Amino acid sequence: MTRNTFDRKAVALQWRRTKIIATLGPASASTAMIQKLIDAGVNVVRVNMSHGDEQTHRVAVQRVRRAAKRAGRHIGVLVDLCGPKIRVGSFERSRIELETGETVVVTTRPVVGHPGLIPSQYRSLHKDVKAGERILLDDGKLALQVLRIRGTEVACKVIEGGTLSNHKGMNLPNSRISTSALTKKDRKDVRLAVELGADFLALSFVRTERDVKQLTGYLKRLGHEIPVISKIERPEAVENIDAIMESSYGIMIARGDLGIELPAEKVPLIQVDLIQRARQKGVPVIVATQMLESMMSASRPTRAEVTDVAGAALLSADAAMLSGETAAGQYPLQAVQTMDRVLREVEQHQWQEGEFADEPIADRAYKTHFIRESMAHAAVQLTRDLDMEAIIVPTSTGTTSRIMSAHRPLAQIVCVCADPRVCRKMALHWGVVPVEIRRSEITNWRKVCRHISARCDLGKVGHDVLLVSGFRDDPEKNEPVLKLLHV
Ligand code: PEP
Repeated sequence: MTRNTFDRKAVALQWRRTKIIATLGPASASTAMIQKLIDAGVNVVRVNMSHGDEQTHRVAVQRVRRAAKRAGRHIGVLVDLCGPKIRVGSFERSRIELETGETVVVTTRPVVGHPGLIPSQYRSLHKDVKAGERILLDDGKLALQVLRIRGTEVACKVIEGGTLSNHKGMNLPNSRISTSALTKKDRKDVRLAVELGADFLALSFVRTERDVKQLTGYLKRLGHEIPVISKIERPEAVENIDAIMESSYGIMIARGDLGIELPAEKVPLIQVDLIQRARQKGVPVIVATQMLESMMSASRPTRAEVTDVAGAALLSADAAMLSGETAAGQYPLQAVQTMDRVLREVEQHQWQEGEFADEPIADRAYKTHFIRESMAHAAVQLTRDLDMEAIIVPTSTGTTSRIMSAHRPLAQIVCVCADPRVCRKMALHWGVVPVEIRRSEITNWRKVCRHISARCDLGKVGHDVLLVSGFRDDPEKNEPVLKLLHV
């Protein structure tokens, strides 16, 4: 066998490792724009159930599927459920002014509000809050402190005043919210997601693993299994993160609400910690919200935003997400192109330095899956020592690709699968290129590798590639195989 000798400094990274998620909305609903976003490198599209109606979502997903086919790529569809987002009701004159220091009443009666009276759409608010706790309004711009509760009326002191208009969001960062994480509307949206063949479901305002199990249980009753991404945006979710990760397919660091529910200065270190923990558990992790926020109305991002996107790649998150930038902004395509350029710039540097992540997977992961993790580690080491360009992963469920991806190898992971659903699932994972093949082709791996090398321009002829297979979550069924193939 020949030793591979490609020049790392000279070779450009063909495939971006960090994946891009783009949220669809009025700015990106047209067939032409969806095609442009996919051609610009979007890997997963997010359909946000907080906006739009059933028909809009139906059409959007159909357009994504057609555009993906045209581009010859596997694009995941992530349906984001609203969850129990709490909002204020409406006001007689559409808005009221809150003076700092004044006392106001928040009521759970279904009334129209006026100065001094704020209706809450959340009917159990008076049961869940306690004196001394805070109620935040309009993305935390306004703040109240609960003084006392009398029946359905919650008297509060205004800590941070301002204008409050109809249906603005309400956050209860200190309270234990008793409502279910899966609302009636969410259940309807889950049924739609099933019908549309969604590849992922994002669950909002998760507090404990019980919330996740409620959704997976509901899916089971419908006779379906869709990977669940838990949105980490409540303080309780941060406290219960290990159990939530165990029961979720992946997590999203939903920095918008997280930065309201917790002081914003806590978010950066929580982000670092969540990414590290997710990698240790082999759980994909998405960094979301305000990544290129100024591009809602400007064709160029701020330097701080560029640094934030670069930070996600430096920390080795699986994916970075665009929200309003692609859903409602004036420059959706430029936002994706900018994100792509920034991520590639960081990855090129990391690759040339011979390291994709500062932090290797720590010992913790090895305790539960010692053999599997050691084999994955050995595979990464082998491809590095032998300068191999590609790790080919034949898979039926995606488990082996998921584990290899969590180790962030320098070599490109090519997930070879006959199931298009698994290929779309892999679109979310760091560094994984999904390649669909026919079942009849899965007989001669040398032939398959040649075919893939040609299709993906990877693992050049005359070089070796590493074939990795057989990883299972169940230690009893785990039979890892590493095989060197000369292409
Ligand atoms: C967030 O709060 O950061 C988030 C992603 O959730 P949403 O966009 O649904 O508010």
